[in-house]
Formats: sequence, structure tokens, C-alpha cells
Amino acid sequence: SKYFDVDLARADFPLLAQEVNGQPLVYLDNAATTQKPRAVIQALAHYYQMDNSNVHRGAHAVADRATRAFEAARSRVARFINAEQVEEVIWTRGTTESINLVAQTFGRMVLNEGDVVLVPVSEHHANIVPWQMVAQARGARVISIPLTPTCDIDLEAFDALLAQHSVKIVAVNQVSNALGTINPVADMIARAKAAGAAVLIDGAQGVAHSSVDVQALGADFYVFSGHKLYGPTGIGVLWGKKDLLDAMPPYQGGGEMIETVSFDGTTYNQVPFKFEAGTPNIAGAIGLAAAIEYLEGVGIDNAVAHEESLMHYLLDAVAEMTHVQRVGSPQRSVGIFSFLVPGTHPSDIGMLLDQQGVAIRTGHHCTQPLMQYLNAPGTARASLSFYNTRNDVDAFVQALDKACRLLV
Ligand code: PMP
Repeated sequence: SKYFDVDLARADFPLLAQEVNGQPLVYLDNAATTQKPRAVIQALAHYYQMDNSNVHRGAHAVADRATRAFEAARSRVARFINAEQVEEVIWTRGTTESINLVAQTFGRMVLNEGDVVLVPVSEHHANIVPWQMVAQARGARVISIPLTPTCDIDLEAFDALLAQHSVKIVAVNQVSNALGTINPVADMIARAKAAGAAVLIDGAQGVAHSSVDVQALGADFYVFSGHKLYGPTGIGVLWGKKDLLDAMPPYQGGGEMIETVSFDGTTYNQVPFKFEAGTPNIAGAIGLAAAIEYLEGVGIDNAVAHEESLMHYLLDAVAEMTHVQRVGSPQRSVGIFSFLVPGTHPSDIGMLLDQQGVAIRTGHHCTQPLMQYLNAPGTARASLSFYNTRNDVDAFVQALDKACRLLV
């Protein structure tokens, strides 16, 4: 694999070189959003300085450039996730909008009275609430897949639910944002398919921590957000199988998504445009393509290997800290360390770390059903990226040690 030097990688991210509360910033909130390399910031600036125009409509040179850059970004995403056809890549605002789109189009199409959507207890609200909304409208039900005591998805219970109900959709995240657990999605897809259910994979956390091959994965839909992949906010992706996308009704109505409009009736454009009403986030798409290009330059395998070794380093250090309890599965996880310090509130830990320049996240992480299962008000969560260093982990451990001494 390619040469990887964390100090060189880190220098590509201008935001990281700042002080917070009089201390060097230690950014360990990468599961919430990742920082942007200079290449992405420059791609955004270049677009607005030189190429800004509306896409697909202009009869002039600048519009033509904008359109070509926008469609080249779609091709770059298609290659990145190994989509069979570029038309299978639909631009959205992010994971949340992608799931709402699938729920309101595919969900409305396949769910009938008594049908079921299965979703693990550990899902993000973005992969629960859209299904509840469509289920309510269609007389269907959302049923949760329970977890084992170690917070892994209970596959036996999953099988039983598949056998027991008319399951039309299974929606599951590749990696849990609250716990870092890598879920057995390939296995779950196989079981769901055998039971005749369609599968949506929420790749919000998975996409930056593995190389994704949607054809090999075998799901029907794969969704992610640009901002967790070193790209801009407000841009995301829905990948879907072409035959399903063709069969689905449109999501929002407006310009771009139509073929012809008249008061006698309107016909719709082909995919992907059928699902892209209105002026899209052109700069965001171009910025996301720049992020993917940057990440491929670093090497996704390098990024994953560095995060893994840093996670081992962190786990070794915190193993010595008797007050700190890791939350979640001891199975394989990405560089997400979710923890509790019994007798303290996670938000107090977060505040004391922030005072020492260490940025983590505390709270329910948009996973309230999981927090209810854990019987915890929330957790504290440190999440790593390839630009984090052992120095960052040392600073985190020292700050946490100090916080424990103050609070416990
Ligand atoms: N699913 C998971 C697993 C996530 O981690 C997130 C972001 N925290 C989302 C969905 C929602 O993503 P976004 O807010 O970018 O739409």
C-alpha cells in the first residue's frame, strides 16, 4: 500500500491547527462530522469563483462547465462505491434525506396493511423515524430487532422476526454511530433477501471506514452523507438498484424532475433526475468528489489501518483507568470509543474535556432507543480519524484522567 505519514495528512486540514480554550485543539468528534482538507475547500472556492452556474439548463459556456463538473462528481461517486451504472447515484442533502426519500417512495410503494419494517434497536433516529412516518400512512408497522447483552444485533431474533412477519424492508447501519460496532450487514442482507425483504444500508458511519462495493454488498439501497467523508455539509448520496429506482414514484415535484408538464398531466424524467427536483447543491457535489479524490490519494486502507492502530493505543491506555467503562460491543469496531464514568454525567465529562481543548461528543447521539436499552442518559464518545495522532490520544487520556479526579 501507499506511504502514509500522519503528520503530512494532518497538515492538509487547516482547521486542526488552532487553539481552543488556550490549548491546542484535539478534535475527536469525527463521527459527528469530519474536517475538510484544503483540496475540498479549494474546490468549493474554485467553483464559486469560476464555474458557478445553474446545471443542465444553460446554453452558455459557464453553465456547460458547471454541468460537466457536477456530472463528473456523480461519476466519481459511482466509481467510489462501485455502482454498476452512474444513474444509480442520486444526490440528496445527506443520509437523512436519502432515507426519507426511500421511505416516502419505495416504502409507500411496497408497504401495505400489516406489513413490517425491521430496524435494530441501535439505529440512528434518521433510520427509525422516516419508517415510522411511512408505516403510519400505510397501516404498516416498524418492529425493532433486539440486541444481545453485548449490544450486538441478535441474529437469532432477527431470523425469528423474518419468519413471523410479512417483512418488506430491513434497514440497518453498517457501523453504529453511538457504539462504533461494525454490524454483520452482509449476513443480514442474505437473511433478509431469503425472506423476500428489501434492504437499506445506512452507510453514514461505514463509508469513511471501509471501501464500499455496493454490487458485492447486495443491498437494494446504500446511503451516506458527504460531511462524514471529509466533504461538505448539505450533500449526500442515495445509491439504489436501477430497476427499483425506475419503478419508484418521484419524491419531490418541481423543475428538473419532469419530462413534460401540462395541466392535463405531467410525465417524469428518468433516473437520477426524477429524484432531483430543483437546483441541486452543485458546489457540494463537486466538493464531495474532491473529498473522495483526496481520500483515495491518502488510501482508504491506510486510513483504516491508522485508525485501527490508534484505537488499540487508546483502548490500552483507558484499560488502566478504573473509572472508565466502555459501552458497546467488544467485537470489532471502528475508531469510536463510547464510554461512561459511573457516578458522573457524560455532559460534565464533555465540558471538562473541552476546557482542556479536547473535543468529544456527549449525549444520546440520536439513538434514544439504544440509550433506553442501556439504561443510560447518554454516553461520552471520542471518535477517531486518520488525521488523529498518538499525541491526540495522549491528550484525551490525560484530560479524561483529570476529569475523573475532579468528578469521581
Ligand atoms: N445515520 C447514522 C449512522 C449517522 O451517524 C448519522 C449522522 N450522525 C445519520 C444517520 C444522519 O446523517 P445526516 O445528519 O448527515 O443526515
